[in-house]
Amino acid sequence: MIYNNINDNKTICALATPPGISAISIIRLSGKDALHICEKIFRPINKKIKLSKVKSHTVHFGPIYDGSDLIDHVLVSVFKEPKSYTGENSVEISCHGSFYIQQKIIELLIDNGAIMAKPGEYTLRAFLNNKFDLSQAEAVADLIASDSKLSHDLALQQMKGNYSNKIKELRQKLINFASLIELELDFADEDVEFADRTKLLELLSDIKNEITYLIKSFSLGNVLKNGIPVTIIGKPNVGKSTLLNALLNEEKAITSKIPGTTRDIIEDTLIINGICFRFIDTAGLKKTTKNEIESIGIKKTYQKIEQAEIILYVFDICNTNLQELKKEINELKEKTTKKIIIIGNKIDKLVEIPIRQLPDKNFVELETIFISAKRKENINFITDSLLKSVNTKNITKDNVVVSNARHYEALSKTLKAIQNVETGINNNIYTELLDVDLRDALHYLGEITGQVTDNEILNNIFGKFCIGK
Ligand code: GDP
Repeated sequence: MIYNNINDNKTICALATPPGISAISIIRLSGKDALHICEKIFRPINKKIKLSKVKSHTVHFGPIYDGSDLIDHVLVSVFKEPKSYTGENSVEISCHGSFYIQQKIIELLIDNGAIMAKPGEYTLRAFLNNKFDLSQAEAVADLIASDSKLSHDLALQQMKGNYSNKIKELRQKLINFASLIELELDFADEDVEFADRTKLLELLSDIKNEITYLIKSFSLGNVLKNGIPVTIIGKPNVGKSTLLNALLNEEKAITSKIPGTTRDIIEDTLIINGICFRFIDTAGLKKTTKNEIESIGIKKTYQKIEQAEIILYVFDICNTNLQELKKEINELKEKTTKKIIIIGNKIDKLVEIPIRQLPDKNFVELETIFISAKRKENINFITDSLLKSVNTKNITKDNVVVSNARHYEALSKTLKAIQNVETGINNNIYTELLDVDLRDALHYLGEITGQVTDNEILNNIFGKFCIGK
């Protein structure tokens, strides 16, 4: 067995739809015996039909029996190798979505020679059968996990093979040079130069430009895929939690509690017009007691600012010294380049204070929005402003944006190796050393597309898929 996630040469089966009650469920079989195994339990209504003989991409109706017991009437879709998702003979059984039927059919398939698929094994098989490259396989997982229009667009874009094709092309050119360099090593005694150093430098520069562009795009791709981190800061009791609740309720948006990725906290997410915003550290704040809130120092606030792309700075319009506020916001502006939106809260209490105490809208040269979090007034101005803060125009059908952290890491390592090759050429280092850096660059570029793989990478990627995918 090469990889932990693959059952060598066996025919695998699994439920492809969520387990439990549904109108219809789909059970998938893939492997060389898929058709024969299905034949043993499925009796097509058209008795002349033999599944192993039918054309690929055809659908057949009939009952499934366990001995003489009728289990269900099903539709069987047949895909013959290599024209299937995995590239192997595949069958999809659409049955009624009862827990019992799902279990029973899988049991029957196993009794007749199939084995349970491991997580991601269908997609891993597709990758190993060259149906797509590694980056496209990862996009399949992203597509399934995408919960907003933008993350869906990003996954589709990666699935099309956008930048992996470009990377393959550049890598091939680099391989050509690497082989010339290695030829030089074979003729080391004769001091010949097969690889034109000027041309090699030109190619390196092209690769560097391409990679630098991709690396830069990650800062956008990453936040769009995982949600744009927003943090709400301000003094205690200004209404931060009330604002968060108002934001989450106001938009009849899909709100969810998802486990934080880096820390064990709960994060609130809000999807506005297909863009996911992630409110960081809010649950942590909500859980703290008033005393603890008082003790949250400036350090903690700045930690939250570091993690955010957008900062909502809230103050209480009735209970704020304007000079102090101005000083604090100006300090904040100096410390961060993140987008800051100033929010004056509690306008419902305006009657209680003389109007002259209200700050001018542009008093700190930052967008300022006046709201009542409690009465949910003007919350839409905040959501409009959040949307405006996101530059999504780079996400077009043709533009390439890296959203995968593994790719980002490999690209960064490639860039470093390429820079080493360049420095090496410019300093006339030994060909042997040049060769080492070139091999590093080739290795990291290959990791992205899966032209270079190791078991750890594959297990890592496919182990995260669900069973049945
Ligand atoms: P936090 O400490 O900044 O999270 O503040 P909270 O959201 O816990 O609010 C502190 C107090 O201010 C609570 O009693 C809220 O009901 C009140 N509050 C919050 N927003 C408003 C508002 O818009 N108007 C009024 N009148 N009270 C508010």
